[in-house]
Amino acid sequence: MIQTVCVAGICESSAALCGFMLGNLIPTPQFSDHAIPVSEQPAASGFWWECLDLGLLLVALVLASYFALVVRSRRSLFWLSAFSLVWFGFIRQGCVCSVGSVQNVAYAMTNASYAVPLTVIGFFCLPILFALYSGRVFCSGVCPLGAIQEMVAVRNVQIPKWIDHGLGLVPWIYLGAAVIFAASGGMFLICRYDPFVGFFRFNGNAGMILFGTFLLLVGVFVGRPYCRFLCPYGALLSACSGVSRSNVRIPPGDCIRCGLCRDACPYGAIEPPTETATDQEAVSGKRRLMIVFAATPVLIIGLAIVGYRLGPALSGLEFDVQLASQLQHEAVDPQWPTNDASDAFRAAQGDADQLLLDAVATQHRYRYAGVGLGVWIALVVVGKSVSLCRRRQQDEFVADRSACVSCGRCFEYCPVEHAKQGVVGLPTIQGEHRP
Ligand code: SF4
Ligand code: SF4
Repeated sequence: MIQTVCVAGICESSAALCGFMLGNLIPTPQFSDHAIPVSEQPAASGFWWECLDLGLLLVALVLASYFALVVRSRRSLFWLSAFSLVWFGFIRQGCVCSVGSVQNVAYAMTNASYAVPLTVIGFFCLPILFALYSGRVFCSGVCPLGAIQEMVAVRNVQIPKWIDHGLGLVPWIYLGAAVIFAASGGMFLICRYDPFVGFFRFNGNAGMILFGTFLLLVGVFVGRPYCRFLCPYGALLSACSGVSRSNVRIPPGDCIRCGLCRDACPYGAIEPPTETATDQEAVSGKRRLMIVFAATPVLIIGLAIVGYRLGPALSGLEFDVQLASQLQHEAVDPQWPTNDASDAFRAAQGDADQLLLDAVATQHRYRYAGVGLGVWIALVVVGKSVSLCRRRQQDEFVADRSACVSCGRCFEYCPVEHAKQGVVGLPTIQGEHRP
C-alpha cells in the first residue's frame, strides 16, 4: 500500500507539491486488490477558516502576553494552552502550523514559482514578532505541540546542565537541516517527522506515533523534551526571546534567593546567582575563547567536507532518488523484490532514464546542501562554545530569556510573588529579609 506523507507545514498549501510527486511519478495504481490508503493529510480548508485561524492566533498571542507579563497567572496560561491544543491541534489537525511554516518560507526562497500562502506567512511571522516583544508566549499558550507536552509534565526531574547544553544544540542543527532540505529539494522534514501530528489526526504512521508516545512518557519527568531538544521553530523563538523588549521576570520584585523557582521550573530555565569571577577564572575563560576561535576554521572546513561526502546519502530521503535506486536494483537483480512505488511507476510507463537523470541531479544538489549543513553545524557548535565561555554576572535567580517558555509555573512558588499579592508576608530566608 502506498502511504501518503504530509510534506508541508501547511498541507493544503503544499498540495501542489504532493500533486506533483503523486501525479507525475506515481499515478493512482489500478491493482485489483489495491486499497486506497487513508490520507494522513487534513482536508483542505477554505479561505474563511484560514482567516479564523489567523485571527485566533493573534488573539491567543495577545492573551498569552497579557497572562504571562501582566496578570502573571499560570492558571490562565494553562487554560489558554488547553484551548490551543483543542483548536489548533485536534480540530485544525496541526495545520496551519508555525513550526512547519519555516519550511514553506525556505522553499519559497529558492523556488520563484511557489507562493507562500498569506496564512502561512502570518503563522511564521506573528509568534516571532511577539517573541521579540514579550518572549516565548507562543510556546506558553498557543503552540499545540507545546501544550500537549505541558499537560503531561507532572514530575520535575532536573537534568544535568551538560546534557541540557549538549542536546540543546539539536534544535539548531535540525533547523538548519529543515531549511536546507526544504530549499534544495522541497522535502519538509519537520512535517514528516512531527511526533504529535498523528495524535491530532488520529491516523499517524506507527513509527511516529511510537516516537510521540515516547516523548510524552519522557515528558512526564523531563519537561517538554520536543520543545527543548528538537523543535527548530523553538530555536528561532529562543533567539528572538533572548533579545526581547520584555520577558517573564522572576521574581516580580527583589529576589530573596530561596531557589524555590529553580526547583519548580521543569525546563531548567532559571539561572542561579553567580559569584564574581576570580582573576584566574577570567584568564582561563579568555584562553578557552581563543581556543574556540582558533579551532573555528578547522571545524568549518572539516564539517563542510563531511557534508559534501554525505550529500548523496542525505539525498536518499528524496522520493525520486529512492525510486531510481529501487528500479536500478530490480534491473540488476531479477530476485530483488518490487514495491508499490516501482510497480506503479511501471504501470504508468514512466521514463526510467529521465527518473535516473533527475535522481543524479538531486544527488548533486545535495552535495552542496551537505556543505551548507556542515558549515551551519560548525557555526552552531562555535556559537554554543562561545556562549559557554562567557560568564554571566548576576546576584539573584533570573529566568534565562532564551530558555524560558513563559509557562508561569514558577510564579506560584515564589514567596515574593505571594507577598506582592498579599497572600503571605515576605519570609526571612538565608538570613536575609528584604522589604
Ligand atoms: S518550542 Fe516549538 S513545539 Fe515547543 S511550544 Fe515552542 S514552537 Fe511549539
Ligand atoms: S515561566 Fe519560565 S522560568 Fe518560570 S517555570 Fe516557566 S519556563 Fe521556567
